[in-house]
Amino acid sequence: MTAPAFSPLPADLLKLIGADENSFDAARAVYTNRDLDLSGIKLVGFDMDYTLAIYNKAPMEQLQYDLTVDRLIENAGYPKEIKNLRYDPAFVIRGLVVDKRTGHILKMDTHGRVARAFHGLRRLTADEVKTRYFHAKLRLGSEALASADTLFSMPEICLYANLIDFFEHRLDAGLSTDPLTLPSDAVTDRHAGRINTWKLFDDVREGIDSIHRDGSLKSVIMADLGKYFVVDDNLALSLHKLRSAGKRLFLLTNSFWLYTDAVMAFLLDGRLKEYASWRQFFDVVICGGKKPAFFTERRPFLEVAAVRGSEQTLGEVEADRFERNRVYQGGNIADFERMANAKGEEILYVGDHIFGDIVRSRKDSRWRTCLVVEELEGEIRASIDNAPTIAVLDDVDAQRHGLDDEIAVQRALLERLEGALDDKDLCIVGEAAQQEVEDAGKRLRKEIDVAKRSLRALDKVAHEHQDTLDKSFNASWGRLFKASNELSRFGAQVELYACTYTSRVSNFRYYSPVHFFRAPRELMSHDAALTTQSRKKAARSRIA
Ligand code: IMP
Ligand code: MG
Repeated sequence: MTAPAFSPLPADLLKLIGADENSFDAARAVYTNRDLDLSGIKLVGFDMDYTLAIYNKAPMEQLQYDLTVDRLIENAGYPKEIKNLRYDPAFVIRGLVVDKRTGHILKMDTHGRVARAFHGLRRLTADEVKTRYFHAKLRLGSEALASADTLFSMPEICLYANLIDFFEHRLDAGLSTDPLTLPSDAVTDRHAGRINTWKLFDDVREGIDSIHRDGSLKSVIMADLGKYFVVDDNLALSLHKLRSAGKRLFLLTNSFWLYTDAVMAFLLDGRLKEYASWRQFFDVVICGGKKPAFFTERRPFLEVAAVRGSEQTLGEVEADRFERNRVYQGGNIADFERMANAKGEEILYVGDHIFGDIVRSRKDSRWRTCLVVEELEGEIRASIDNAPTIAVLDDVDAQRHGLDDEIAVQRALLERLEGALDDKDLCIVGEAAQQEVEDAGKRLRKEIDVAKRSLRALDKVAHEHQDTLDKSFNASWGRLFKASNELSRFGAQVELYACTYTSRVSNFRYYSPVHFFRAPRELMSHDAALTTQSRKKAARSRIA
């Protein structure tokens, strides 16, 4: 069947309405891993922190860092000198894993292999990584490993690295390493470092956790919301567009009412004339949602007194329906679906936490998901800027694969030639024939050696280009979604669990509310083998 033809609109008209080729900004697109038909979505839910509410990264991370340092000094016996350690926002990317036993910080790939590692601020050599991790199976659920899955975790990882360096320098200088001194007989699998790197991680974690829990972080933020948040002028419009198409919207955040109300009011109150209050955008508001437990446990919904500046719960809610003028706390997915009168695939949830918002809702429900990855904008822009290097790298890679295959084919031929000389059944009769086989073997062996040298040279070129490329994304860790040629652990999680992903919520405004997000067709190795090119290759290697 031939596809129906649409008559093209004039180029200047397309330009005028902002729909020409140049108006497409890859950094602002919504990307699809699994088909998602927006027309089938009745309810769109949003997480707040780092999803609807975009933090101004530098001051927010610096604040978390500084408050945690203070906590370590005041509550955990750390020396005052740690106040001199500087926060480096460029040092960390999302998805890193801390090995508490050694103090190493790891970037892992999709197969659970360690792609690169740092100890403090020093990158481990390939040999060091190999020695420690080549044969080790890292289980991410184990208590020895902690992963940094949200942007809230970035200061924690940098502080950890700084403190490792700080205490190891003290150790080398013969100074006290308290409170991280290990007893001399403490070298166990739990303590494979020179200082107590396990305790260090737990102390930093407890410090960060406490500044979130006891309101000290939030009180500083609330006193100067303009400093800590980026106002996205298109957010209100994007939410309005979804509502106008008949979708119901809900907010499901782990933040509690007092903070949620302050932040949402700052971001949305009066941004559109139809919406004096942020509450008008949402049919259901749930604070203190305790994700991921919201998806896995059966905690009750409580009602919260929806009064600005107060944090008071009014008791358990037993109702068949949510009411717009009420605010809820806690709850669980089963009661949510019942009270919202919508089920699984009719609900799209947009969040930034790969585990708490996306993996859990995907594993424990049939909710459709959209992951907000604000770093995507930078990653895509860096890919565009580095397109020439990426093209060279692709080309070198194709050459490596081609040469690798060719060497394998020629090696197999060489084996046949060598075997033929010993094989009586083949009847290589006469000295001339024997000589010809021997000469062919010699020639082939030489050519294989030359090809192997070329392959090594190509490997070197590929590594150099890869290194340059990685550095232009993040000098320490390379690309967020990739680890060399593989997906990074984070990239693999995004691909596996997020139906769609984008850099910010307001990117939805570029799409119709009935848009069909269509996933690219994935080829498995045997599908790919059916392409003409691969078929030829496969046939040749079979001959060999
Ligand atoms: P979201 O709106 O569901 O993303 O909720 C994020 C909430 O989790 C915010 O209120 C944060 O302060 C809080 N949070 C983030 N990290 C931590 C932590 O380490 N301990 C306790 N609360 C945290
Ligand atoms: Mg969040």
